[in-house]
Amino acid sequence: MGASRRHTGAVGSHSTPSQGTWGMGIRTQWIAMLVVLLLVVSAPLATAISAPGLPPPAVLDDNTAEYHLGPHVSFLHDREGRHALEDVMTGAAAGFAPLPGGSDALGFQRGAFWFHARVVNRAPGQTRWLLVQQYPLSDDIRFHAVYRDGRIVRHHGGDHQPFSARSVRYRHPNFWVELPADEPVDLYVRVQSESSMQVPLVLYTPTAFAEMTRDVQFGIGLYYGILLALFFYNLVLWLTTRDSSYFWYVFHLTAFGLVLFTLNGLGFEYLWPESSWLADKSVPLSICLAQVGVQQFARKFLDLNNRWRFGDRVGLGLIAFFVLLGIASAFLPVRISTPLASACVFISVGWVAVEAIVAIRLGYAPARIFLLAWATFLVGTAMFASVAFALLPKTFVTEYGVQIGSALEMLLLSVALGYRYAALRNENERIVRDAKRQLEYQVAERTRELREALAQLGDANARLRESNQRDALTGLHNRRHFHEQLVPMLDQARANRQPLSLLMIDLDHFKEINDRYGHLAGDACLRWVAHAIGDELRSHRALLARFGGEEFVAALPGHDLDQARIAAEKIRTRLESNPCETLGRPTRVTTSIGVHEINPAASGGIDSAIEYADRALYLAKSSGRNRVQTSAVS
Ligand code: GH3
Ligand code: MG
Ligand code: MG
Repeated sequence: MGASRRHTGAVGSHSTPSQGTWGMGIRTQWIAMLVVLLLVVSAPLATAISAPGLPPPAVLDDNTAEYHLGPHVSFLHDREGRHALEDVMTGAAAGFAPLPGGSDALGFQRGAFWFHARVVNRAPGQTRWLLVQQYPLSDDIRFHAVYRDGRIVRHHGGDHQPFSARSVRYRHPNFWVELPADEPVDLYVRVQSESSMQVPLVLYTPTAFAEMTRDVQFGIGLYYGILLALFFYNLVLWLTTRDSSYFWYVFHLTAFGLVLFTLNGLGFEYLWPESSWLADKSVPLSICLAQVGVQQFARKFLDLNNRWRFGDRVGLGLIAFFVLLGIASAFLPVRISTPLASACVFISVGWVAVEAIVAIRLGYAPARIFLLAWATFLVGTAMFASVAFALLPKTFVTEYGVQIGSALEMLLLSVALGYRYAALRNENERIVRDAKRQLEYQVAERTRELREALAQLGDANARLRESNQRDALTGLHNRRHFHEQLVPMLDQARANRQPLSLLMIDLDHFKEINDRYGHLAGDACLRWVAHAIGDELRSHRALLARFGGEEFVAALPGHDLDQARIAAEKIRTRLESNPCETLGRPTRVTTSIGVHEINPAASGGIDSAIEYADRALYLAKSSGRNRVQTSAVS
């Protein structure tokens, strides 16, 4: 605070210096609190005793740098707002009275208020002073300095005048006033406003004012610096993650920042210096916006839609209410919309706390930091409010309780968002892990089933292939398979330069057997014959097949014509000497066999070889049957 001294201006001690609120010692705080309490208790008594006496004049001296005029101010309520300065000076209007309870905050009021203070300056070296009304939202302020010689200096201020009309470009209305040495000057301030009637008047020397604004601006800069950093940080997070709770956090932060910006008079100074309409309406509007942000952020952050349906619906209801109130506040008088919106803030924030507690009880861990954040805000606000009711002394922490509480709240909410993000990510990772494990299990299961199915299919295929190669009646290979197998057999014979012979076997007069015993008996006989031939050729590594009807074909690797003929002869004699037992009574079935040796060197194919064997068979038939006939051609 440098060398400047502040004068509280308490009755009878207006020249007593006291420490600034930024560095008040604890003992001084208690004394100040006692003084305040004493004042509150004794004010009605003092008024009663001294009535109709007015407060004594404020006396400034060489040591005064900053002087709070409160205890020297008397007021007059001009309900119709009709009186001119002359009326109130001459007493045509009803008389002035001391401020009720010494308080310069009179609540939301209709009509105009006149404030009067007499100032005597005993500092000849300091005649230029700045009168500051430390409340930024008053609509219309008319300032008058009345001098001994009848001279009157007038200024016009308040946020219904453009910002540029101010004596000093500062967020609080202010007026330069000349205070000649040792001359009582009467200051009359007429205030008319839709906003709350608060008129804390303070006189500053130019130096004291410069020092005061420097410190306050630093604090404000720090506060909005924190808010701005959080704003951009979370804005970037929202843009990158697209998680809507970041958006609503940024929304709430912006709107809340706007509330304080407006309440501090900075909105009028920097954002809408020409618009007195916005200067008025911005307070309820920004409060409603901030509450929409609060409720929507809480709904998203706590995921109330999934966690607590009822709470979510109430939150939506509150949002709808604040949207409507926001719209209505554009038309409603500020003295109705502002107190209404302010009162509803307590309901809204209280409800957010309830939502957070329910979410915690439902096991949602990030809601703890969320609740802590709101608790810091509520504590800060409660401390600020307690100062107004003189329950707590005015210290840096209590005076700036809302700012400190909200800055901490915003920081903690940002931390809570990070924590929630981490919790969501962990949960997602767990889900992905589980899903992967489940998928792996299912893939393994399907693979096993597929392998089994493939094995079964392979078996079925093998069986099918086998049955495709077999003749259904006799169980011997069929003609197609014989053809397929003969090709590699012939190749091998050629490669090994070994002989290969064919037998064409046809049963004699089989038709008669069918005719005599029936077709089924004929079938059984065919099976019996097939078995007999197979048995006979087993030692010859022969490839035996049913060629069709009662005709069989056999390929004998390593057999020349003669060896083949011997094998054929054995078949013929075996059938001749073993009657078929399956026909009811033993019946002789004879056979004719054509034998042909394939010449490995010859280029003829399988078909011509079969042709030769067939021709030999034909010869055997035509020569009387039941015989073996070799092919002449090789
Ligand atoms: P050949 O001595 O001239 O060979 O006289 P064959 O009667 O044996 O000859 P043919 O070609 O005239 O008649 C063949 C007979 O074989 C006709 C048919 O009744 C009989 N047959 C053909 N396939 C089957 C069969 O699968 N089952 C039965 N039961 N008979 C068959
Ligand atoms: Mg035949
Ligand atoms: Mg026959």
